[in-house]
Amino acid sequence: ATAQIGVTGLAVMGSNLARNFARHGHTVAVHNRTYAKTTALVEEHGREGNFVPAESAEDFVAALEKPRRLIIMVKAGDPTDAVIDEFAPLLDEGDMIIDGGNAHFADTRRREKALREKGIHFVGTGISGGEEGALNGPAIMPGGSEESYKALGPLLESIAAKAEDGAPCCVHVGPDAAGHFVKMVHNGIEYADMQLIAEAYDLLRNVAGFTPARIAETFRGWNAGRLDSYLIEITAEVLAHTDAATGRPFVDVVADEAEQKGTGRWTVQTALDLGTPVSGIAEAVFARSVSGHRDLRAAARELPGPRREFLSADEAEAFAARVEEALYASKVVSYAQGWNMIAAASAEYGWDIDLGAMAAIWRGGCIIRAAFLDRIRSAFAADPALPTLLADKGFAEEVGRAQDAWRSVVTTAVAHGVPTPGFSAALAYYDALRAERLPAALTQGQRDFFGAHTYRRVDREGSFHTRWSGERDEERTA
Ligand code: NDP
Repeated sequence: ATAQIGVTGLAVMGSNLARNFARHGHTVAVHNRTYAKTTALVEEHGREGNFVPAESAEDFVAALEKPRRLIIMVKAGDPTDAVIDEFAPLLDEGDMIIDGGNAHFADTRRREKALREKGIHFVGTGISGGEEGALNGPAIMPGGSEESYKALGPLLESIAAKAEDGAPCCVHVGPDAAGHFVKMVHNGIEYADMQLIAEAYDLLRNVAGFTPARIAETFRGWNAGRLDSYLIEITAEVLAHTDAATGRPFVDVVADEAEQKGTGRWTVQTALDLGTPVSGIAEAVFARSVSGHRDLRAAARELPGPRREFLSADEAEAFAARVEEALYASKVVSYAQGWNMIAAASAEYGWDIDLGAMAAIWRGGCIIRAAFLDRIRSAFAADPALPTLLADKGFAEEVGRAQDAWRSVVTTAVAHGVPTPGFSAALAYYDALRAERLPAALTQGQRDFFGAHTYRRVDREGSFHTRWSGERDEERTA
């Protein structure tokens, strides 16, 4: 046995991860169901480091130093179970199976429990950054036991992206499925970020009347400020791109139907179960869904909207500055919601996740990497029990300063008939949190009226019911 680590599943992610390990001086055993991919990898990239190609599962396992560290990078779902079933019987107590695929965290909980009973560490690991990240440094979110991290952490940290201060973008997130859970929320936040950026673009295009090239310039300007991030940077690239075949802006020749692979949907489904409002992520998932409903959109195309001219050149400049404020404030809200969701799951499952550490490891490698995440890290460093990012002094001040512009942008969007579900939902959440009284009191009254669901009072302890169909006198029920 000569390999410190093994990778099975050599499609794009697995191959790149294996190469990343090899480039960092680790000997990597490589295996794939179809052996031709294994030999192709070694033929093409064998010079980058030490690879041990294995044709059979037995050879693969035999190539690994003990305790064995075996990374699975296959299609999430049934294929992952098939591969676990193939390898688990060949492993010894204390060995580690690391699932780097995009598994649903509930599957990871199930697998971890089953393998723990056999003495095998199952390390559900979120890996973000796509194929480029896998090769050059992803953000890595391993769950599983503390013990497994001791043996595995240094290897993962060696291949992870490094933040600006040099810290590796990899940390032991927490037990069992904590790693896959935070990866899911990361993707949900990514959906929300992308939706907010899309809305900003739509407003600059259809209210301010800017061309895609001009909007690319605007985004480049924003990228030099507090919105500095990978997503803003690539947005400018996409908007500046011209379609070679037609000479038109690339964004105008792409079908406007957004697809999704499902992690955004999982985030929202899970948030509903946990009872954590993640309206920013939900609106982003729904916005993609609406865009894909070609029939609905065709049926509604003739519905009337407001007739509005583009803003004048002077107004447009000022409007663009307000859009930046609205985008920033909405982004703070969606991150606040995402972090609340992580905190809720951490409490629910006993994961004890370090909320600041999540911001720290997302500063590099992953899709939502941004200067902004360092601010979130500092916010949790100042107060580890921060109930919401909106309560952090710095964020509260910024969002407070942005609110007039934010309201004005949403109002303008409504007046011009440009849909901004992300901006609007974020603002509604902000206003709901800061409201002294919410109409939820009325909701409670209605629930008590039709279903005797009871309510609590502001002035006395206990639960109460009003006999609505009788004398309307009140009884204390608990
Ligand atoms: P795919 O998801 O396309 O998976 C292909 C790999 O799975 C091949 O190696 C294939 O083997 C193997 N496989 C499929 N079914 C089985 C099976 N029943 N038994 C054994 N092996 C099987 O590859 P990707 O590289 O795109 O992704 C790998 C994992 O990483 C996925 O879970 C994905 O969600 C996750 N991921 C992907 C990212 C990305 O940007 N693509 C980013 C982060 C995570 P064979 O060659 O024999 O067909």
